Amino acid sequence: YQPSDLAWLDMKDNTIDVVIGPIETYEDQLFGYKAAHEAFVLIKDKEWSGRLARYAAMLPSLQSELPVPAAYKRERPGSDSDLNAYDAVYYAGDANAGSKTIAINLPNDEEVQLRKGTRRLQLKNAMRAKFDRILVPVAGELIAEDQRSHISFDAFFSNIMFHEVAHGLGIKKTLGGKGTVREALKEQAGALEEGKADILGLFMITRLHQRGELKGQELDDNYVTFLAGIFRSIRFGASSAHGRANAAQFSFFQDQGAFTRDSASGRYRVDFPKMRTAVDALAGQILRFQGDGDYEGVTRFMIERGKLSPVLQQDLARLGSKNIPVDVVFEQGSEVLK
Ligand SMILES: [Zn+2]
Repeated sequence: YQPSDLAWLDMKDNTIDVVIGPIETYEDQLFGYKAAHEAFVLIKDKEWSGRLARYAAMLPSLQSELPVPAAYKRERPGSDSDLNAYDAVYYAGDANAGSKTIAINLPNDEEVQLRKGTRRLQLKNAMRAKFDRILVPVAGELIAEDQRSHISFDAFFSNIMFHEVAHGLGIKKTLGGKGTVREALKEQAGALEEGKADILGLFMITRLHQRGELKGQELDDNYVTFLAGIFRSIRFGASSAHGRANAAQFSFFQDQGAFTRDSASGRYRVDFPKMRTAVDALAGQILRFQGDGDYEGVTRFMIERGKLSPVLQQDLARLGSKNIPVDVVFEQGSEVLK
């Protein structure tokens, strides 16, 4: 499928876009090698895409600012990577099974990524549905009342957008000759890579705020919306790479004091300075795991960090009892178009 990947990277001006093929390996829980087939049919939103264009150009300078020793950030992220917004009109196969993707960063093939970069697709209408139907109700239940004003769609959108951009940062080949990170970390690779993208995404937002690149947005919104997003994603469960990654983030942030829980209300409050420190610490930890190809270390980390405490389980159960859905289901296809 490499020729197909390379050709798809050149399809930059289409209004209608199609993603099709064997793509994600989450279903292969033995080694995470075998990909499942899926397809998306998408319509490009040219106006939103214009707003996103400039971030792709910032990848090389953001790579150099990663909080790790120089050896771990030596690779050059592909510079012609592009970033566009779409409305999805159809999801099929693996894409329509289980949790619904709201952002895509493809191809996954590391050789193609190093040669030609990647394309990043933000699925706006699917994001908006999840924000309105899931994230806002989750925050209403689990975020401290006086921080709830920090829950915003713009912050949700940029957290997801920079998650996708962050997949292009960091390290693809291990430093110690263990091959690609994906080969070395086997079935742990998917969850760690998702965790990396979440955390480096937040790291990038923080840096761009400091540079004055994200005017009109409040950094605190990104942090509080991020915390609400962790609860949303933990609910995907331990069988999902995103679910495992978010459980580990929650545990790490909790130990670092990045948030506190009020035992009377059962609600959570971000500690902004500590969260900033925790983001750098976790980014460094994940990038070292990847660069070292440290399979044992990651396995230990995920087992220790992946467990949900009884308190957290009770808090999540409150979401279920309030009938807040775990995910959206699409009404789509010829049935709807009649
Ligand atoms: Zn991702």
